[in-house]
Amino acid sequence: MRAQERQLAWVRFGMVLVVAPFLLIYAPLAELRPILFIVLGVVAAWSGAIPWLLSRFPSREVGIVTTALDMAAVSVVVYVAGDRIDAYLFYGLVILGTALRFGLGASIWSSIVMSGLYAAVVISMQPDDIALQRLEVRVAYIVGIGVIAGLFSRVVIQRAMDNARLQQRLTEDEREADRVREREVLSRLGRDFGASLERDATSQAIAVGAAPVLGDATLVTVIDDAARCLVPVAADGRDPELASRWQAHLAGRPPRLGEGIIGRAAATVATVEGGIDTVAAGDPDGLRGVELAWILAVPILAGGRLQGVLATSGREGDRAPADVRRLADAVAERAGPALQNAQLWSDLQERMAREQAAQRIKDDFLSIVSHELRTPLTSIQGYSQLLEGRLRADLAGESKEMAHLRVIRSQVGRMRRLVDDLLDVSRIDRRGAVSIETTDFNLAEDLREAVGRLEREHSDRDISLDAPDTLAIHADRDRIDQVVSNLLENAVKYSPDGGPIRVVAERRGAEVEVRVSDTGVGIPEEHRANVFERFYQADDDAGRRRFGGLGLGLYISRAIIDAHGGRIWVAANDETGRGSVFGFRIPRVAMPLAPMGIEPTGEPPPFVMRNRPG
Ligand code: ADP
Repeated sequence: MRAQERQLAWVRFGMVLVVAPFLLIYAPLAELRPILFIVLGVVAAWSGAIPWLLSRFPSREVGIVTTALDMAAVSVVVYVAGDRIDAYLFYGLVILGTALRFGLGASIWSSIVMSGLYAAVVISMQPDDIALQRLEVRVAYIVGIGVIAGLFSRVVIQRAMDNARLQQRLTEDEREADRVREREVLSRLGRDFGASLERDATSQAIAVGAAPVLGDATLVTVIDDAARCLVPVAADGRDPELASRWQAHLAGRPPRLGEGIIGRAAATVATVEGGIDTVAAGDPDGLRGVELAWILAVPILAGGRLQGVLATSGREGDRAPADVRRLADAVAERAGPALQNAQLWSDLQERMAREQAAQRIKDDFLSIVSHELRTPLTSIQGYSQLLEGRLRADLAGESKEMAHLRVIRSQVGRMRRLVDDLLDVSRIDRRGAVSIETTDFNLAEDLREAVGRLEREHSDRDISLDAPDTLAIHADRDRIDQVVSNLLENAVKYSPDGGPIRVVAERRGAEVEVRVSDTGVGIPEEHRANVFERFYQADDDAGRRRFGGLGLGLYISRAIIDAHGGRIWVAANDETGRGSVFGFRIPRVAMPLAPMGIEPTGEPPPFVMRNRPG
């Protein structure tokens, strides 16, 4: 509207210049010429002042005053030069201006007012003048001009408004389409950024994803806290060659915090922009070195912490276009969490690697110590056996020394079992399973032997076995014996009141099942799932350990049964209402399962079936 008013002011100015010679030539009396000069001067001055007036006052009010001034000027002209030229025609110009500015109503009103003014001027001038004779025609003409100009303006204004509205709708539609496109691009970028947890892949995804919507070259830099600089990690752009040149340039000398455009964006945690006219000392951003016209640097933040800076640049212009600025902000906002996740992931991996290394050292230590302990224990056991034999031969009967030697042997045996358990655990930890060597044997016979052994060691206990004569299976004999011994020893150990122990073995289709039940302390239901974990020992109600041991027997037993492709379990002893039942089932022909999650070490597989003949 203001621009329109300004144009109108220039048109008025031009009209004054056109009208002036006519008025001066046809003005009747030389002494009236100064009045015409003054009128034209006032109109010209007012026209010249319109732009200034518009900058201070509302355009509508300026328009009304201008129209009133025009009316007065035309009336004076009509009065002064009315008998020589038809100056009343000038009213037509004023009416047209009013019509265009204020529409039909104002146009008609102004034509009525102006015909009044004209009539007043004519009547007051000379009652017998020719103008008076034609007054009705001229008044009708002025009013007619008002109506026609008003109608004309209505059509013109209506059309202009329709056009303006259409234009506005088109612009809005375009803007909406742009917004939708932007939203789509950004949501796609958000997805792409999070697709990987590797930092390099994430940075690359950010650069590649952002490249088509930002400047000619786009660079992702990440903060190096130790060196206090920004390391360029990925680059792409509409001009990939420019982007890689920029990356190479900055990789040679990464911008330090606070230095140049990129460094300042990181130090102030705010968007910084600069053109070739703002090159910092040493050209740290490569504006000159890579021949860039402008750089826009946006900090990448996540969780209140600076992750890096997204920088984009162009070869032409002096500043980033507004849409690039907006999009760069949105891209940086989405890049923050993605880079943070990648950083967390790499921290986590580093920690896991450190922990794995520590665990490996611990396992190695356990394995070496167990091995080293085994050798002296074996010789102690051997020599004590030798001594016992000698004593028996020399003394030919029982003696105190022999009893002492037996104690030594049994304690050494216990220590060996503990060391063997530790060795097994370290093997399971290192390889994920125990190794088994399968052979054909009669499980029932082994069970009878184990029960017999236990009865000899604990002659006060009531131990019964319920098994068929033969239970032929194909499994690792020593390992299955180890499981059975462990279950039997536990049954004795955890029933200190001396209750009966029952062992049942039976065929179950293609499997065999062995159960050992006691009437001892039992295991509360909430602890049953844990007893097969390593180093697990159930505490008593006061949280104290009542029985000795390392809590490894059941852990190893489960690993052995797993290696046979079977399963082991514990339940409450419902038959007696006290104690527990431990049982396991294995296929009659063992089908060892491949252990999971073991990295190839160049060693043989964790367990290899080596069939022993017979
Ligand atoms: P250890 O007997 O050397 O502690 P195990 O692995 O053989 O280790 O057993 C783990 C834990 O399971 C034991 O500490 C004990 O609390 C519980 N447990 C094992 N067998 C029995 C049982 N027959 N009755 C009650 N608790 C048992």
